[in-house]
Amino acid sequence: MAAFLRRGFFLALHDALGQGRSSVYHHALAAALLGARRTVKSWPLSFSQEELKKRLTPMQYHVTQERGTESAFTGELTYHKDEGTYHCVVCGVVLFSSNFKFDSGSGWPSFFDVLKEESVSLSDDYSYGMHRIETTCSQCGAHLGHLFDDGPKPTGKRYCINSISLAFQPKDSNPSSSSAAEAGAAGGSGNDGKTEL
Ligand SMILES: [Zn+2]
Repeated sequence: MAAFLRRGFFLALHDALGQGRSSVYHHALAAALLGARRTVKSWPLSFSQEELKKRLTPMQYHVTQERGTESAFTGELTYHKDEGTYHCVVCGVVLFSSNFKFDSGSGWPSFFDVLKEESVSLSDDYSYGMHRIETTCSQCGAHLGHLFDDGPKPTGKRYCINSISLAFQPKDSNPSSSSAAEAGAAGGSGNDGKTEL
């Protein structure tokens, strides 16, 4: 009976919208209609909510785990110009280089490129009645910010990132002493038995 109802639900969606038969599409659409904010993904690194609430500040937790946004012009790294790399504040993986940073005037740290394309995941975000591309850490799923297509040459891209989602590591610093490296070490390789689920 449940299977029948489920099948009926999908068929109804199909008929109503006249769309294709992809089950992936149906699942995504059903999830959207049922109120899910996005497709649930699993990330290579996972941390317990308990651990993150202890380790992160309330604002870091809100932005990275609840897809929040810091107020414009308030982030410590917005106008930061030192040479170095910008890491995910949750898992420590490197995301951006100071070589790609520019002043967009938006009030948030802005980059026209990522260091490695696969380090930042992109997904559709329809919150607040608009369509934006959400940027997420590919390692741990932390919300970073959004990607726009009004950036400078050569890419024309603008990665608009919450300062609070980032940890800066100066170019010539000892990696073992940086907070980003510590955060990365805390994340571990996923097989050290310490990860709480
Ligand atoms: Zn991360």
